[in-house]
Amino acid sequence: MNKRIYLCLAHMSGREMDFIKEAFDSNWVVPMGPNVNAFEDELAAFVNRRQDGAAPLDKAVACLSAGTAAVHLALLACGVGPGDEVLVQSFTFCASSHPVTYLGATPVFVDSEPDSWNIDPDLLEKAIKDRVAVTGHKPKAIIPVALYGMPYRIDRITEIADRHGIPVVEDAAEGLGSTFDGQVLGTFGRYGVLSFNGNKMITTSGGGALVCPDAEAKNHVLFYATQARESYPYYQHEHIGYNYRMSNICAGIGRGQMTVLDDHIAHHRHVQQQYRSLLAGIPGITLHDNPSPRHRSNFWLCTITIDPSVKVRGQDKAYAAVLAGAVGGAAGVTHAAASATTDCQPNANVEAMRSALDAAGIEARPLWKPMHRQPVYSTAPAYTNGVSEALFRTGLCLPAGPWVTDDDLRHIATTIRSAIEQ
Ligand SMILES: *Cc1c(COP(=O)(O)O)cnc(C)c1O
Repeated sequence: MNKRIYLCLAHMSGREMDFIKEAFDSNWVVPMGPNVNAFEDELAAFVNRRQDGAAPLDKAVACLSAGTAAVHLALLACGVGPGDEVLVQSFTFCASSHPVTYLGATPVFVDSEPDSWNIDPDLLEKAIKDRVAVTGHKPKAIIPVALYGMPYRIDRITEIADRHGIPVVEDAAEGLGSTFDGQVLGTFGRYGVLSFNGNKMITTSGGGALVCPDAEAKNHVLFYATQARESYPYYQHEHIGYNYRMSNICAGIGRGQMTVLDDHIAHHRHVQQQYRSLLAGIPGITLHDNPSPRHRSNFWLCTITIDPSVKVRGQDKAYAAVLAGAVGGAAGVTHAAASATTDCQPNANVEAMRSALDAAGIEARPLWKPMHRQPVYSTAPAYTNGVSEALFRTGLCLPAGPWVTDDDLRHIATTIRSAIEQ
Protein backbone atom coordinates (compact mmCIF):
# COMPACT_ATOMS: atom_id res chain seq x y z
CA MET A 1 0.00 0.00 0.00
CA ASN A 2 1.70 3.24 -0.94
CA LYS A 3 -1.14 5.61 -1.66
CA ARG A 4 -2.11 7.80 1.28
CA ILE A 5 -5.65 7.41 2.61
CA TYR A 6 -7.16 10.76 3.55
CA LEU A 7 -10.03 11.57 5.92
CA CYS A 8 -12.28 13.04 3.24
CA LEU A 9 -10.94 14.24 -0.10
CA ALA A 10 -12.91 16.14 -2.72
CA HIS A 11 -14.15 13.89 -5.52
CA MET A 12 -15.24 15.43 -8.84
CA SER A 13 -18.11 14.11 -10.93
CA GLY A 14 -16.56 15.11 -14.25
CA ARG A 15 -19.41 17.56 -14.94
CA GLU A 16 -17.89 20.49 -13.03
CA MET A 17 -15.78 21.77 -15.96
CA ASP A 18 -18.86 21.93 -18.22
CA PHE A 19 -20.63 24.31 -15.83
CA ILE A 20 -17.45 26.36 -15.30
CA LYS A 21 -16.91 26.59 -19.06
CA GLU A 22 -20.50 27.79 -19.44
CA ALA A 23 -19.73 30.56 -16.93
CA PHE A 24 -16.64 31.63 -18.91
CA ASP A 25 -18.36 31.39 -22.29
CA SER A 26 -21.26 33.54 -21.12
CA ASN A 27 -18.88 35.88 -19.21
CA TRP A 28 -20.59 35.28 -15.83
CA VAL A 29 -17.30 35.34 -13.89
CA VAL A 30 -18.83 37.22 -10.95
CA PRO A 31 -20.44 36.51 -7.57
CA MET A 32 -23.91 35.92 -9.10
CA GLY A 33 -25.28 34.38 -12.27
CA PRO A 34 -27.00 31.35 -13.80
CA ASN A 35 -24.92 28.70 -11.98
CA VAL A 36 -25.63 30.36 -8.63
CA ASN A 37 -29.38 30.44 -9.31
CA ALA A 38 -29.45 26.86 -10.57
CA PHE A 39 -27.31 25.58 -7.68
CA GLU A 40 -29.69 27.27 -5.22
CA ASP A 41 -32.70 25.62 -6.88
CA GLU A 42 -31.01 22.21 -6.88
CA LEU A 43 -30.04 22.55 -3.22
CA ALA A 44 -33.57 23.64 -2.30
CA ALA A 45 -35.00 20.59 -4.07
CA PHE A 46 -32.52 18.38 -2.21
CA VAL A 47 -33.19 19.73 1.30
CA ASN A 48 -36.95 20.04 0.79
CA ARG A 49 -37.47 16.38 -0.10
CA ARG A 50 -38.88 14.08 2.55
CA GLN A 51 -38.05 10.44 2.94
CA ASP A 52 -41.29 9.47 4.63
CA GLY A 53 -43.58 10.20 1.69
CA ALA A 54 -44.73 13.53 3.19
CA ALA A 55 -45.18 16.58 0.96
CA PRO A 56 -41.91 18.41 0.20
CA LEU A 57 -40.99 21.45 2.29
CA ASP A 58 -40.80 24.97 0.89
CA LYS A 59 -37.44 26.32 2.10
CA ALA A 60 -35.36 28.76 0.03
CA VAL A 61 -31.56 28.43 -0.21
CA ALA A 62 -29.04 31.30 -0.42
CA CYS A 63 -25.54 30.42 -1.70
CA LEU A 64 -22.67 32.16 0.08
CA SER A 65 -18.87 32.25 0.05
CA ALA A 66 -18.52 29.93 3.08
CA GLY A 67 -20.43 28.04 5.73
CA THR A 68 -18.93 30.44 8.26
CA ALA A 69 -20.56 33.33 6.38
CA ALA A 70 -23.87 31.43 6.54
CA VAL A 71 -23.60 31.16 10.36
CA HIS A 72 -22.75 34.87 10.53
CA LEU A 73 -25.71 35.99 8.40
CA ALA A 74 -28.15 33.63 10.14
CA LEU A 75 -27.24 35.14 13.49
CA LEU A 76 -27.51 38.64 12.05
CA ALA A 77 -30.98 37.76 10.75
CA CYS A 78 -31.94 36.51 14.24
CA GLY A 79 -31.07 39.96 15.55
CA VAL A 80 -27.87 38.99 17.37
CA GLY A 81 -25.80 42.04 18.26
CA PRO A 82 -23.32 43.42 20.78
CA GLY A 83 -23.95 42.26 24.35
CA ASP A 84 -26.26 39.37 23.35
CA GLU A 85 -25.70 35.72 24.19
CA VAL A 86 -26.02 32.74 21.83
CA LEU A 87 -26.22 29.12 23.01
CA VAL A 88 -23.78 27.00 20.99
CA GLN A 89 -22.99 23.30 21.10
CA SER A 90 -19.50 23.16 22.61
CA PHE A 91 -18.47 20.00 20.76
CA THR A 92 -17.97 21.54 17.32
CA PHE A 93 -15.61 23.16 14.84
CA CYS A 94 -14.85 26.82 15.64
CA ALA A 95 -16.96 28.11 12.70
CA SER A 96 -20.13 27.49 14.74
CA SER A 97 -19.12 29.97 17.44
CA HIS A 98 -16.66 32.44 15.92
CA PRO A 99 -19.41 34.42 14.11
CA VAL A 100 -21.07 35.00 17.49
CA THR A 101 -17.90 36.84 18.44
CA TYR A 102 -17.76 38.71 15.10
CA LEU A 103 -21.14 40.21 16.05
CA GLY A 104 -19.91 41.40 19.44
CA ALA A 105 -22.06 38.80 21.21
CA THR A 106 -20.94 36.06 23.63
CA PRO A 107 -21.19 32.33 22.93
CA VAL A 108 -22.54 30.29 25.84
CA PHE A 109 -21.38 26.71 25.37
CA VAL A 110 -23.57 23.69 26.05
CA ASP A 111 -22.16 20.18 26.37
CA SER A 112 -23.30 17.03 24.56
CA GLU A 113 -25.48 14.02 25.25
CA PRO A 114 -23.60 10.69 25.16
CA ASP A 115 -25.63 8.96 22.45
CA SER A 116 -25.65 11.47 19.53
CA TRP A 117 -22.57 13.40 20.82
CA ASN A 118 -24.56 16.57 20.04
CA ILE A 119 -26.13 19.25 22.25
CA ASP A 120 -27.76 17.78 25.36
CA PRO A 121 -31.42 18.94 25.44
CA ASP A 122 -31.67 18.78 29.26
CA LEU A 123 -28.52 20.86 29.67
CA LEU A 124 -29.82 23.27 27.01
CA GLU A 125 -33.01 23.83 29.01
CA LYS A 126 -30.99 24.37 32.19
CA ALA A 127 -28.68 26.83 30.40
CA ILE A 128 -31.63 28.89 29.08
CA LYS A 129 -33.18 29.19 32.54
CA ASP A 130 -29.85 30.01 34.13
CA ARG A 131 -28.91 32.68 31.56
CA VAL A 132 -32.28 34.38 32.09
CA ALA A 133 -31.70 34.27 35.86
CA VAL A 134 -28.11 35.56 35.62
CA THR A 135 -28.42 38.19 32.88
CA GLY A 136 -32.13 39.02 32.85
CA HIS A 137 -32.17 38.35 29.09
CA LYS A 138 -32.99 35.36 26.91
CA PRO A 139 -30.20 34.08 24.65
CA LYS A 140 -30.85 35.23 21.07
CA ALA A 141 -30.34 31.89 19.26
CA ILE A 142 -29.53 28.20 19.75
CA ILE A 143 -26.95 26.47 17.51
CA PRO A 144 -27.04 22.67 17.51
CA VAL A 145 -24.35 21.03 15.35
CA ALA A 146 -24.57 17.79 13.34
CA LEU A 147 -21.08 16.70 14.36
CA TYR A 148 -19.52 14.32 11.82
CA GLY A 149 -22.95 14.31 10.18
CA MET A 150 -24.86 12.83 13.14
CA PRO A 151 -28.33 14.34 13.66
CA TYR A 152 -29.03 16.16 16.93
CA ARG A 153 -32.25 15.54 18.89
CA ILE A 154 -34.03 18.21 16.87
CA ASP A 155 -37.49 17.19 18.14
CA ARG A 156 -36.53 17.99 21.73
CA ILE A 157 -34.43 21.02 20.81
CA THR A 158 -37.34 22.48 18.81
CA GLU A 159 -39.80 21.88 21.66
CA ILE A 160 -37.51 23.64 24.17
CA ALA A 161 -36.63 26.48 21.78
CA ASP A 162 -40.30 27.11 20.90
CA ARG A 163 -41.37 27.08 24.55
CA HIS A 164 -38.77 29.76 25.33
CA GLY A 165 -39.28 31.66 22.06
CA ILE A 166 -35.66 31.37 20.88
CA PRO A 167 -34.82 30.70 17.21
CA VAL A 168 -32.74 27.66 16.23
CA VAL A 169 -29.89 27.98 13.71
CA GLU A 170 -28.94 24.46 12.67
CA ASP A 171 -25.27 24.01 11.88
CA ALA A 172 -25.59 21.18 9.36
CA ALA A 173 -22.25 22.02 7.69
CA GLU A 174 -21.05 18.45 8.25
CA GLY A 175 -24.53 16.92 7.97
CA LEU A 176 -25.57 17.55 4.36
CA GLY A 177 -28.24 14.93 3.61
CA SER A 178 -28.45 13.51 7.14
CA THR A 179 -32.04 13.09 8.31
CA PHE A 180 -34.06 12.94 11.52
CA ASP A 181 -37.45 11.24 11.16
CA GLY A 182 -36.92 11.33 7.38
CA GLN A 183 -36.50 15.12 7.18
CA VAL A 184 -33.23 16.63 5.96
CA LEU A 185 -31.15 18.52 8.52
CA GLY A 186 -31.05 22.27 8.02
CA THR A 187 -34.81 22.46 7.42
CA PHE A 188 -36.03 22.21 11.03
CA GLY A 189 -34.67 25.46 12.47
CA ARG A 190 -35.40 29.04 11.40
CA TYR A 191 -32.10 28.84 9.48
CA GLY A 192 -29.85 25.95 8.43
CA VAL A 193 -26.14 26.19 7.60
CA LEU A 194 -24.49 24.12 4.85
CA SER A 195 -20.81 24.05 3.86
CA PHE A 196 -19.08 23.14 0.61
CA ASN A 197 -15.51 23.49 1.81
CA GLY A 198 -12.92 21.23 0.20
CA ASN A 199 -13.29 18.43 2.73
CA LYS A 200 -17.07 18.38 3.18
CA MET A 201 -19.68 16.02 1.70
CA ILE A 202 -19.57 18.01 -1.55
CA THR A 203 -17.31 20.91 -2.43
CA THR A 204 -17.36 24.14 -4.42
CA SER A 205 -13.63 24.55 -3.51
CA GLY A 206 -14.90 26.87 -0.78
CA GLY A 207 -18.50 27.88 -0.21
CA GLY A 208 -21.61 27.52 1.86
CA ALA A 209 -25.33 28.08 1.89
CA LEU A 210 -28.07 29.19 4.21
CA VAL A 211 -31.40 27.38 4.22
CA CYS A 212 -33.99 30.11 4.81
CA PRO A 213 -37.65 29.85 5.86
CA ASP A 214 -38.93 31.51 2.66
CA ALA A 215 -38.02 33.67 -0.34
CA GLU A 216 -38.41 36.88 1.65
CA ALA A 217 -35.97 35.76 4.36
CA LYS A 218 -33.56 34.65 1.62
CA ASN A 219 -33.79 38.05 -0.03
CA HIS A 220 -33.01 39.71 3.31
CA VAL A 221 -29.93 37.46 3.77
CA LEU A 222 -28.72 38.18 0.24
CA PHE A 223 -29.08 41.93 0.85
CA TYR A 224 -26.56 41.61 3.70
CA ALA A 225 -24.40 39.20 1.67
CA THR A 226 -23.93 41.83 -1.07
CA GLN A 227 -22.84 44.88 0.98
CA ALA A 228 -26.38 45.98 1.87
CA ARG A 229 -26.89 48.12 -1.23
CA GLU A 230 -30.13 50.10 -1.23
CA SER A 231 -32.16 50.34 -4.43
CA TYR A 232 -30.85 53.57 -5.94
CA PRO A 233 -28.94 54.25 -9.20
CA TYR A 234 -25.93 55.07 -6.97
CA TYR A 235 -24.40 53.37 -3.89
CA GLN A 236 -26.62 54.18 -0.94
CA HIS A 237 -25.87 52.48 2.39
CA GLU A 238 -28.20 52.46 5.38
CA HIS A 239 -26.86 49.22 6.93
CA ILE A 240 -23.48 47.51 7.27
CA GLY A 241 -23.23 44.61 4.82
CA TYR A 242 -20.77 41.87 3.91
CA ASN A 243 -19.18 40.50 0.73
CA TYR A 244 -20.41 36.93 1.19
CA ARG A 245 -22.11 35.96 -2.11
CA MET A 246 -21.00 32.78 -3.88
CA SER A 247 -19.22 33.20 -7.21
CA ASN A 248 -20.75 31.82 -10.40
CA ILE A 249 -17.56 29.74 -10.93
CA CYS A 250 -17.83 28.05 -7.52
CA ALA A 251 -21.53 27.44 -8.12
CA GLY A 252 -20.55 25.69 -11.37
CA ILE A 253 -18.44 23.26 -9.35
CA GLY A 254 -21.41 22.86 -7.00
CA ARG A 255 -23.75 21.96 -9.86
CA GLY A 256 -21.32 19.28 -10.97
CA GLN A 257 -21.14 18.00 -7.40
CA MET A 258 -24.94 17.86 -7.09
CA THR A 259 -24.92 15.10 -9.72
CA VAL A 260 -22.95 12.86 -7.31
CA LEU A 261 -24.25 14.01 -3.91
CA ASP A 262 -26.51 10.99 -3.41
CA ASP A 263 -23.68 8.66 -4.49
CA HIS A 264 -21.29 10.32 -2.05
CA ILE A 265 -23.72 9.93 0.84
CA ALA A 266 -24.35 6.29 -0.11
CA HIS A 267 -20.59 5.70 -0.17
CA HIS A 268 -20.03 7.26 3.26
CA ARG A 269 -22.81 5.03 4.64
CA HIS A 270 -21.22 2.02 2.97
CA VAL A 271 -17.89 2.87 4.62
CA GLN A 272 -19.61 3.06 8.02
CA GLN A 273 -21.21 -0.33 7.34
CA GLN A 274 -17.78 -1.79 6.55
CA TYR A 275 -16.28 -0.33 9.75
CA ARG A 276 -19.17 -1.93 11.69
CA SER A 277 -18.06 -5.39 10.70
CA LEU A 278 -14.28 -4.81 10.46
CA LEU A 279 -13.94 -3.20 13.92
CA ALA A 280 -16.57 -5.30 15.70
CA GLY A 281 -14.16 -7.81 17.22
CA ILE A 282 -11.49 -5.38 18.48
CA PRO A 283 -11.71 -5.01 22.27
CA GLY A 284 -11.75 -1.43 23.56
CA ILE A 285 -12.57 0.10 20.15
CA THR A 286 -16.12 1.50 19.86
CA LEU A 287 -17.53 2.77 16.56
CA HIS A 288 -19.88 5.75 16.95
CA ASP A 289 -23.19 4.92 15.26
CA ASN A 290 -26.78 6.13 14.80
CA PRO A 291 -28.25 6.02 18.32
CA SER A 292 -31.79 5.27 17.07
CA PRO A 293 -33.65 4.52 13.83
CA ARG A 294 -34.85 8.15 13.86
CA HIS A 295 -31.25 9.37 13.39
CA ARG A 296 -29.82 8.79 9.93
CA SER A 297 -26.29 10.17 9.67
CA ASN A 298 -24.56 10.83 6.36
CA PHE A 299 -21.40 9.55 8.15
CA TRP A 300 -19.35 12.41 6.76
CA LEU A 301 -16.58 11.11 9.01
CA CYS A 302 -16.60 7.77 10.76
CA THR A 303 -15.40 7.97 14.35
CA ILE A 304 -14.19 5.63 17.08
CA THR A 305 -13.39 5.91 20.75
CA ILE A 306 -10.52 3.99 22.35
CA ASP A 307 -10.96 2.79 25.91
CA PRO A 308 -8.27 4.27 28.22
CA SER A 309 -7.33 0.70 29.27
CA VAL A 310 -6.24 -0.21 25.71
CA LYS A 311 -2.42 -0.31 25.37
CA VAL A 312 -1.21 1.03 22.03
CA ARG A 313 2.38 0.48 20.92
CA GLY A 314 4.54 3.56 21.50
CA GLN A 315 2.06 5.32 23.77
CA ASP A 316 4.78 6.22 26.30
CA LYS A 317 6.49 8.26 23.53
CA ALA A 318 3.30 9.98 22.32
CA TYR A 319 3.55 13.79 22.27
CA ALA A 320 7.39 13.68 22.34
CA ALA A 321 7.73 16.24 19.54
CA VAL A 322 6.03 19.56 18.67
CA LEU A 323 4.09 19.07 15.42
CA ALA A 324 5.00 21.13 12.38
CA GLY A 325 1.89 22.56 10.74
CA ALA A 326 -1.70 23.06 11.77
CA VAL A 327 -4.29 20.29 11.70
CA GLY A 328 -5.96 19.96 8.33
CA GLY A 329 -3.19 21.86 6.61
CA ALA A 330 -5.08 25.15 7.09
CA ALA A 331 -4.28 26.19 3.52
CA GLY A 332 -0.52 26.05 4.05
CA VAL A 333 -0.68 28.44 6.98
CA THR A 334 1.40 27.49 9.99
CA HIS A 335 1.39 29.12 13.36
CA ALA A 336 3.97 27.50 15.59
CA ALA A 337 2.66 25.77 18.72
CA ALA A 338 4.05 27.03 22.02
CA SER A 339 4.45 23.52 23.41
CA ALA A 340 4.08 19.83 22.51
CA THR A 341 1.16 19.38 24.90
CA THR A 342 -1.79 21.29 26.39
CA ASP A 343 -3.81 20.75 29.56
CA CYS A 344 -6.64 19.16 27.56
CA GLN A 345 -5.62 16.70 24.86
CA PRO A 346 -6.30 13.16 23.61
CA ASN A 347 -5.01 10.30 25.78
CA ALA A 348 -1.55 8.94 24.98
CA ASN A 349 -3.01 5.71 23.54
CA VAL A 350 -5.13 7.79 21.12
CA GLU A 351 -2.14 9.85 19.97
CA ALA A 352 -0.11 6.63 19.59
CA MET A 353 -2.92 5.15 17.46
CA ARG A 354 -2.99 8.30 15.32
CA SER A 355 0.79 7.99 14.80
CA ALA A 356 0.52 4.27 13.98
CA LEU A 357 -2.14 5.00 11.36
CA ASP A 358 -0.12 7.91 10.00
CA ALA A 359 2.95 5.66 9.62
CA ALA A 360 0.78 3.21 7.65
CA GLY A 361 -0.30 6.00 5.26
CA ILE A 362 -3.67 6.61 6.91
CA GLU A 363 -4.86 10.05 7.96
CA ALA A 364 -6.73 10.02 11.28
CA ARG A 365 -7.58 13.04 13.40
CA PRO A 366 -8.57 13.58 17.02
CA LEU A 367 -12.22 14.51 17.57
CA TRP A 368 -12.80 18.26 17.64
CA LYS A 369 -11.64 19.85 20.89
CA PRO A 370 -14.67 21.28 22.71
CA MET A 371 -14.96 25.06 22.46
CA HIS A 372 -15.34 25.46 26.24
CA ARG A 373 -11.78 24.08 26.57
CA GLN A 374 -10.31 26.37 23.90
CA PRO A 375 -8.07 29.10 25.36
CA VAL A 376 -9.70 31.69 23.09
CA TYR A 377 -13.05 31.03 24.82
CA SER A 378 -11.70 30.75 28.38
CA THR A 379 -14.05 33.50 29.62
CA ALA A 380 -17.20 32.30 27.82
CA PRO A 381 -19.90 30.77 30.06
CA ALA A 382 -20.27 27.00 29.68
CA TYR A 383 -22.77 24.36 30.85
CA THR A 384 -20.87 21.09 30.97
CA ASN A 385 -21.36 17.45 31.90
CA GLY A 386 -17.96 16.00 30.96
CA VAL A 387 -19.26 14.21 27.84
CA SER A 388 -17.51 16.19 25.08
CA GLU A 389 -14.24 16.38 26.99
CA ALA A 390 -14.23 12.61 27.60
CA LEU A 391 -14.96 12.05 23.89
CA PHE A 392 -12.16 14.43 22.90
CA ARG A 393 -9.71 12.52 25.12
CA THR A 394 -10.65 9.12 23.69
CA GLY A 395 -11.77 9.63 20.09
CA LEU A 396 -10.41 9.55 16.54
CA CYS A 397 -11.90 10.35 13.12
CA LEU A 398 -11.20 7.76 10.45
CA PRO A 399 -11.16 8.13 6.64
CA ALA A 400 -14.60 8.02 5.02
CA GLY A 401 -14.67 9.85 1.68
CA PRO A 402 -15.51 8.63 -1.84
CA TRP A 403 -11.87 7.70 -2.48
CA VAL A 404 -11.77 5.17 0.37
CA THR A 405 -12.05 1.61 -0.98
CA ASP A 406 -12.95 -1.66 0.75
CA ASP A 407 -9.25 -2.62 0.51
CA ASP A 408 -8.33 0.63 2.28
CA LEU A 409 -10.84 -0.16 5.02
CA ARG A 410 -9.33 -3.61 5.57
CA HIS A 411 -5.88 -1.97 5.74
CA ILE A 412 -7.18 0.55 8.31
CA ALA A 413 -8.78 -2.16 10.47
CA THR A 414 -5.64 -4.34 10.32
CA THR A 415 -3.47 -1.37 11.28
CA ILE A 416 -5.70 -0.57 14.27
CA ARG A 417 -5.71 -4.20 15.37
CA SER A 418 -1.95 -4.61 15.15
CA ALA A 419 -1.20 -1.30 16.90
CA ILE A 420 -2.83 -2.67 20.05
CA GLU A 421 -0.54 -4.59 22.44
CA GLN A 422 -2.05 -7.99 23.18
C1 LIG B 1 -16.97 23.35 8.06
C2 LIG B 1 -17.83 23.79 9.16
C3 LIG B 1 -18.42 25.06 9.18
C4 LIG B 1 -18.04 26.19 8.27
O1 LIG B 1 -17.94 25.97 6.99
P1 LIG B 1 -16.86 26.72 6.02
O2 LIG B 1 -17.51 26.52 4.71
O3 LIG B 1 -15.57 25.97 6.19
O4 LIG B 1 -16.76 28.14 6.42
C5 LIG B 1 -19.31 25.37 10.19
N1 LIG B 1 -19.59 24.49 11.15
C6 LIG B 1 -19.03 23.27 11.18
C7 LIG B 1 -19.42 22.35 12.28
C8 LIG B 1 -18.14 22.87 10.20
O5 LIG B 1 -17.56 21.67 10.26
